[in-house]
Amino acid sequence: MNRQEKALALAEREREEIKRKENFMRLAIAQAKAARRAGEVPIGCVIVKDGAVIARAHNMRQKRRLATAHAEMIAIERACRKTGDWRLNGCEMYVTLEPCAMCAGAAANARISSVVFGAYEPKSGACGSHLNLLENAGLNSNTQVTGGILKEECSRLITEFFAQKRTSEE
Ligand SMILES: [Zn+2]
Repeated sequence: MNRQEKALALAEREREEIKRKENFMRLAIAQAKAARRAGEVPIGCVIVKDGAVIARAHNMRQKRRLATAHAEMIAIERACRKTGDWRLNGCEMYVTLEPCAMCAGAAANARISSVVFGAYEPKSGACGSHLNLLENAGLNSNTQVTGGILKEECSRLITEFFAQKRTSEE
């Protein structure tokens, strides 16, 4: 392969990888929509191991009346139960909104290998927007972060939810 062919092959692989991530993000979006139907803030999460989904969850703060019932926390709990191990090495977490400090910390503690999120959360996002807890030597975290996968669709879910909420409260 010459240099140009190599560059083309690399670009093709990157496109394939983005498509793969988008497919799993669509499953997280389906979870976010389930949250919306249940009257919860529409945030969804799936955890993937060896190319298969091992846990799905959505935000359940209202239903559980629990501040820690974020989609990612519930998905981590379910993935650990499924694998019978608190370590989720080799697992990828897909979540529609950039994780907060609690969830990013939990992902690092669970040794999740990769966090992929949709919409950026400038106010409280802890995966690069406001804080950067992952990819952080101080936390001894080796978790890779990819942001912005299907971000328009993910952020539309949230903004529409709060716009509707405001209208119904007026
Ligand atoms: Zn969170």
